[in-house]
Amino acid sequence: MTAPARARGSQELIRAEEPVLAHNYHPLPVVVARAEGAWVEDIEGRRYLDMLAGYSALNFGHRHPALVDAAHRQLDRLTLTSRAFHHDRLAGFAERLAALTGTDMVLPMNTGAEAVESGIKVARKWAYDVKGVPADRATIVVAADNFHGRTTTIVGFSTDETARAGFGPFTPGFRVVPYNDLAALEEAVDETTAAVLIEPIQGEAGVLIPDDGYLAGVRELTRRAGCLFVADEIQSGLGRTGRTLAVEHEPVVPDVVLLGKALGGGIVPVSAVVGSREVLGVLRPGEHGSTFGGNPLAAAVGTAVVELLETGEFQRRAAELGTVLREGLAALVGRGVVGFRARGLWAGVDVDPALGSGREISERLMREGVLVKDTHGSTIRLAPPLTVTGEELRGALGTLEKVLTS
Ligand SMILES: *Cc1c(COP(=O)(O)O)cnc(C)c1O
Repeated sequence: MTAPARARGSQELIRAEEPVLAHNYHPLPVVVARAEGAWVEDIEGRRYLDMLAGYSALNFGHRHPALVDAAHRQLDRLTLTSRAFHHDRLAGFAERLAALTGTDMVLPMNTGAEAVESGIKVARKWAYDVKGVPADRATIVVAADNFHGRTTTIVGFSTDETARAGFGPFTPGFRVVPYNDLAALEEAVDETTAAVLIEPIQGEAGVLIPDDGYLAGVRELTRRAGCLFVADEIQSGLGRTGRTLAVEHEPVVPDVVLLGKALGGGIVPVSAVVGSREVLGVLRPGEHGSTFGGNPLAAAVGTAVVELLETGEFQRRAAELGTVLREGLAALVGRGVVGFRARGLWAGVDVDPALGSGREISERLMREGVLVKDTHGSTIRLAPPLTVTGEELRGALGTLEKVLTS
């Protein structure tokens, strides 16, 4: 009789990935086995405060009871129909998501990149059908340092060489302008422009927050130019910044909003394009689709996410705890932090490069029981679940102080 296989430890599992898993990521050396709320536990039973929250995919924490319950109930009833048939969860999801975001129509998809691709397709179709742009001439203006996902079309208009190099040829029809620069945007927009596609806050770029008035300026400029304003709120939306959408920090209503990440409650991938009937109404049967988009399980979880956001509690928590985060970071400026940008429970923190790269700081924080992720250079991103308590948040800031000053 052979002995039962011994469970493998963290280091063994990390080594086991090497030959069989594509090397498109460089994760921190922690092997997570379970999680609840703002806390995760590795396979050796060490606990960590999750200050990344799946890049905002876990805005409601790990395994929020209302979300897990909605998923369980749906798993026992119906999980997939494809859009060949109607199912009984989709109408309610679309109605409530449209109401939450103040729009007319919803196009359900799965991943964020698919929502972006869908937004691009809808904007182009609108440009030809409604605006009257000559066939195949539509342009879309995007911002430098954008992050919109990983498909070939999307990386084609990235300005990050690591994301782009080696994956061409790319889809034509995109113009790149500097972010937070209305004059450059004005220059790039012309009669062929279907849309301006931007992130209201650039997350991957290091939580770059544009100047006050920029988003209102984009709204005004696109309205004047007769093109669409498409806001990618896949990371910034659904409570993260203290509002349902980050664009709400200015009196701005985009024509189209792209949602993802937190919409799936950290359980299933759920994304959506939401927008006016004039724009989303251009699609006819057969012109776009997705086997899994809007499936019953996704719709059930997405509806439960919308229900949580309807209470306003998470937006309020993000705004209130955002003050704790900002004050805590401000106290570290000159003591290891050279600068930071924060809105709601979301911050990009530039650490003194003399203290180490963002990666090294992240590894040191990990060893102290706090999980974060670097973005570029010596910048780390903080985005805890919106369920984090003030005490937990102050604890994480204390750990950051210890790592930077010891
Ligand atoms: C994560 C992200 C995407 C892509 O989402 P995936 O689900 O990874 O495809 C697109 N836009 C923004 C702003 C994001 O943060």
